[in-house]
Amino acid sequence: MKEQNSAIVVGAGITGLTAALLLSKKNISVTLYESDSVHGGMLAPVCFDGFELDRGSHRVHPEAHPLLLKLTAEADWRHKERRGTLILNRRRLPYPLDPIRFIAGLGFLSSISMAYGWLRRPNALRQTVRWEKERKEVAVDEGFESFVVRRVGRSAYRRFYEPYARKVWGIEPKDLSQTVAKQRVSTTNPAQSIFKKSQRQFLYPASGMSSLIELLRKKNEDAGVQINLDTPFKLSDAENKPTFYTGHLHSVVPDSQLSYRGLYLVYLVVEQKCLDDTDTWYAPETRYWFGRVSQPAQFSELLGRPEQRILCVEIPEGNWGAQQDFTKQAQELVHQLRDAKILKTPGPILDIRQVFLPQVYPMYRRDWVHEQRRALMYLAQRGKIYPCGRQGLFLHCNMDQAVATAEAAVKHYLSGGSPMSWVTQCQNFADFRVRD
Ligand SMILES: Cc1cc2nc3c(=O)[nH]c(=O)nc-3n(C[C@H](O)[C@H](O)[C@H](O)COP(=O)(O)OP(=O)(O)OC[C@H]3O[C@@H](n4cnc5c(N)ncnc54)[C@H](O)[C@@H]3O)c2cc1C
Repeated sequence: MKEQNSAIVVGAGITGLTAALLLSKKNISVTLYESDSVHGGMLAPVCFDGFELDRGSHRVHPEAHPLLLKLTAEADWRHKERRGTLILNRRRLPYPLDPIRFIAGLGFLSSISMAYGWLRRPNALRQTVRWEKERKEVAVDEGFESFVVRRVGRSAYRRFYEPYARKVWGIEPKDLSQTVAKQRVSTTNPAQSIFKKSQRQFLYPASGMSSLIELLRKKNEDAGVQINLDTPFKLSDAENKPTFYTGHLHSVVPDSQLSYRGLYLVYLVVEQKCLDDTDTWYAPETRYWFGRVSQPAQFSELLGRPEQRILCVEIPEGNWGAQQDFTKQAQELVHQLRDAKILKTPGPILDIRQVFLPQVYPMYRRDWVHEQRRALMYLAQRGKIYPCGRQGLFLHCNMDQAVATAEAAVKHYLSGGSPMSWVTQCQNFADFRVRD
């Protein structure tokens, strides 16, 4: 195919910056539209207490797609030892889990009840093992509840999966897609999360994830990419130019039924003596508002100062809606952090700030696949539009996976692939497994 020598990229998140760079390396002149006033999307920093912090707990796994590390090789990547803690029944378990600690954490009676529920199912072992095998089969969406109950039994479902799904998604678990269980397999499939050899290390850039954005921004600038901030893209701007779209899929498709859930981030400054050296605490139970809490100074020593520490508390939008102000409920939050033994000792909150991230998690309702495909087809019929990235493809994915979709979309276009054939090819990404 004769390449066009100009292209549009929409979005200056990690996916858009990657797509723009890869296109400009092929001598294609790129104009990038970014509706926000800053670069970075989900990796744009939150400024608090004099630091540029990540939006929630972000890390890169050693087995991540290599393109991310290749494009950002100049970043000060450090290998870090994982220090996770799972809070279960007010017990603190090292995370990722091993079988003995999992049973210890559950308590004897709960373990027996779950094992009994599991054994009562027909073909118990085969069903559980099939969790992994069936990830790719999306023909019939039996729904989250049925998918999980068939594999782990009703007792485990009631104990863990149902409350967790309600807390995070705020809708009836039977209305959720089986994708929710399949995609987050590393944290939901019991066999995987308990028996898998866990990854004890992760990678983190010393100056935070936003340093990757700054690096890619400079590379784009050097390559001559024209980045227009505060410039929302509309479909009419494409003018039949190849367009790599990384914004939300539903926002360019009329009557789209695709929807998202948001996330509250509450940043707190506390005295260092109140915390241990955990990097991230996981709290799946409904007794706590938060699902995850992280301590940036444990990711990089540049993100803390002597005697004081920042905590980033992640509260799923769930049923709260977008207008909640958790800074006005700091006392209750501190009570919960103490109950979970995240705060070891009493101490003052030295500062607090809340940020709400709207539309960060795709809401996978049953049969969402058909609605996503309809949206992708609509765009493919509107011009040379190649949606990619987390929002563009309606994916719940990691940043290295988002970057991989940019590479695939650019390759697809350069090899003469049509937008319509991209609709088929990008269905493969629905199989991404989120790593926590
Ligand atoms: C709390 C949290 C924790 C995470 N932890 C990890 C982790 O540990 N490891 C990991 O690998 N990943 C993690 N992720 C996922 C990772 O952040 C994302 O996969 C990645 O940043 C997505 O990048 P993106 O460029 O595809 O999308 P985005 O970053 O959302 O970028 C899209 C950009 O498009 C712009 N835009 C949208 N519409 C328009 C328009 N019409 N016109 C112009 N511009 C537009 C937006 O403003 C935005 O800048 C986490 C995400 C969250 C929310």
